[in-house]
Parts: sequence; C-alpha cells; structure tokens
Amino acid sequence: MNIHEYQAKEILKSYGVKIQEGIVADTPEKAHEAAKELNRETGTSWYVIKAQIHAGGRGKGKIKETGSNGVVLAKSLEEVKPKSEAIIGGTLVTHQTGEVGKKVGKVLIAQDVYYPGPSEPKEYYLSILLDRASGQNVIMASTEGGMDIETVAEKTPEKIVKEWIDPNVGLQGFQARKVAFALGLEGNAFKEMVKFIFSLYKAFNAIDASMFEINPVLKTSDDKILAVDSKVNLDENALFRHKDLAELRDITEEDPAEVEAGQSGLSYVKLDGNVGCMVNGAGLAMATMDMIKLSGGDPANFLDVGGGANAQTVEAGFRIILKDPNVKAILINIFGGIVRCDRVANGVVEAYKKIGKIDVPIIVRLQGTNAEEGAKIIEESGLKVTSAILLKDAAEKVKQVLA
Ligand code: GDP
Ligand code: MN
Repeated sequence: MNIHEYQAKEILKSYGVKIQEGIVADTPEKAHEAAKELNRETGTSWYVIKAQIHAGGRGKGKIKETGSNGVVLAKSLEEVKPKSEAIIGGTLVTHQTGEVGKKVGKVLIAQDVYYPGPSEPKEYYLSILLDRASGQNVIMASTEGGMDIETVAEKTPEKIVKEWIDPNVGLQGFQARKVAFALGLEGNAFKEMVKFIFSLYKAFNAIDASMFEINPVLKTSDDKILAVDSKVNLDENALFRHKDLAELRDITEEDPAEVEAGQSGLSYVKLDGNVGCMVNGAGLAMATMDMIKLSGGDPANFLDVGGGANAQTVEAGFRIILKDPNVKAILINIFGGIVRCDRVANGVVEAYKKIGKIDVPIIVRLQGTNAEEGAKIIEESGLKVTSAILLKDAAEKVKQVLA
C-alpha cells in the first residue's frame, strides 16, 4: 500500500528521521495559513508547494489545466496562495502517472531547505527495500540524488552502492558508516548521515514497510541531512497489526476496478489486452494468461476469484471485467476442486442473467469435480456462452471469437 509524502514524512519524523518540515493543505487559503505557521515554526521565508499524489516525478510534471509544475517554489508568503491555486484541484501528469494524470487534492507546504550557506546543498538517493532473492533488506544509496534511480541504474550502475542487512542481526554500525563513506561524506554530515540511516532503518522495520525511497536526501549548506522527499510502501500483509497505518489508505489514488475487486475478495490487476479472464487460483490464472497469449490474444486482466468461486464472486468478477472497454471476449477458467463445477456453472448462468445484456462472447472452461454436468448446464442455459473442457480448446475458441 502506498501513502502520501506528507504522511510518510510524519511517520519518519516520529522515528527520529530529520525531514524537510511541512504542513498539508487542501485549499489555497489553508496553504497560505500553513505557510504563515511554517514561518513561525521554522523561520523559513521561502516555501515549496508540493502536490500530494501517489506518483513521483512531480517536480518535472505539469498540471494539465494550468501548466504549473507539481513542485514549485514560492519566494514570498504572497506567492503561496496563487501558486497553490494553480495546483490544487488540477490534474498532474508525470512520467509515472500516464497521460490521464492524477487529480491533486492536497498540497504540502514545505520549508525551503536549499538555502545558501558555507557549502552547496547536495542531493543524494537513499532507499531501503526488501530483497526477496536474498531474504534480506537492502540499503541502496547514490550520489546521484534527485534523478530517477532507474536511469542511474541503466547509465551509471557503478554509482549505486548496496548494503545487505541480515534481518536477524539488524543494521550494524559499520554498515551505516560504509554507506555514508561511499557517498563521500565527511565530518558532521557523515555523522548525521549515519544517524539518518539508523533512524530510517528503525522506522522501516517498525512499520513493516516493503520499500522506503528518499529521493532526494539533502545535505544542506550547513551540513544537516534531511529527507526532502519520501516514498513509503507498506506491506499489506502486515497491515492487520498497524490499524493506524491502514487508515492512511487513500482509495482515490487507486484503480477503481482494483478497489472494487478487493472489496469483493478478488485479486484483480488490470492489463492492456482484450481478453478478460476470470480464474480461480493465481497459478492457474497465470497459465491461462499464457495460453491466451499463445493463441494470439492478449489478456485484459489478471483475476483470481479465490478458492470458493460462487455466484456472487462470479458476478462481481463479470462486473469488474466488463468495466474495461477493451474487453472483446471473456474466458472463465475454473478448476472445480473444493467447489463443484455444476455449482460454478449455475453461478455463471445466474450472474449472466442478473447482469443482463453482455455483448462480448464468453467462453467457459470448467474442469474437475462434475465438469460434465457443469458443461451441460452452460449449454442448456440458452445463453451466448460457449463451453470448453480442455484449456487448449478454450484458448482456440477465444481465438475464433476474436477473429
Ligand atoms: P518528485 O519530483 O515527485 O520526486 O518530488 P521531490 O520531493 O523529490 O521534489 C522535486 C525537486 O524539487 C527536488 O529534487 C528539488 O530539486 C526541488 N525541491 C524540493 N524541496 C526544495 C526546497 O526546499 N528548495 C528548493 N529550492 N527546491 C526544492
Ligand atoms: Mn523525489
């Protein structure tokens, strides 16, 4: 689960991570008030206005309606309101949102931390992620802060340092020092970075995160180390023990079809193809998608209706698949193990009747307990549903209806 930058920063701060301070606002007036408050608290007289959406690249991104960037600098209190007005309520398009962009509901009014001083401010990249391959956490750091890490990885991979941490042992002092040293830091900034990494790692474990990406981490002109941006990804499987964090979920940021699927207990991931699929079991769903590909089609989604496919889950699945205008055929592939095929077939017929007009052809493949009875129910229903028993058969039929 993703959360917003302002939420992530609050969490980090509570674990002792130094952050660029800010106050969130959802109207231009409140943005003005937030800036005034921030001036009282931090003394800053320049402000950074940051669109809060679940996507990166905001600084270079543009608000469709106004042309404003998603992160802008206000060099006086008077500029805060009009500049916020050009962002709040707009649609921000970044390289991560796709062309449709994301609606901005809130902005974070943050203190300017790139102020002049004894040295130049310098941006770094720092992330912590769960490395499934090694079963360890990995810290990734780079002197190339503020840039897309994918680009750095591609063009100058030697500029990324990695330090693996055994979760049973925890982060060791020498490891944090190694990272800070690799970033070329010295003196106070070095010490601050070591502390920063320790606090960050503590937070990462405490909230059961699967990813932290702080890009940029800033070394200020007076050698402080601060999180300027914060991307936090929480492990959904651990949310049950973080009720407070679960409440940070912003469903307006998520794909509506995926949210609806989640509420019906289905796992759904939207894809770009034209064949909708409804399958029970993630493995079978993947095999089905492969089969569709092999027969020349393209899956429109991944959908696992779970072990107990019944009329309600099938109906919910239909509705979700049919929301996608690209869908030209639907392949239902259910293995009747615990659930019997005749029951699933009845569920399909019932759901089909209940939803009413469905224009796309449906191919149903039921295998397992009572497969033949299931096929019979489908055939005798009088609906425009084609039945198949072999998966290859089903894929062939999909090909025919798409032709
Ligand atoms: P992203 O574009 O979505 O990754 O948003 P970031 O939070 O990383 O901000 C984008 C850029 O805005 C940063 O790389 C900085 O260059 C700039 N920025 C952020 N905070 C400040 C600030 O306090 N002062 C100035 N002058 N620039 C800032
Ligand atoms: Mn960033």
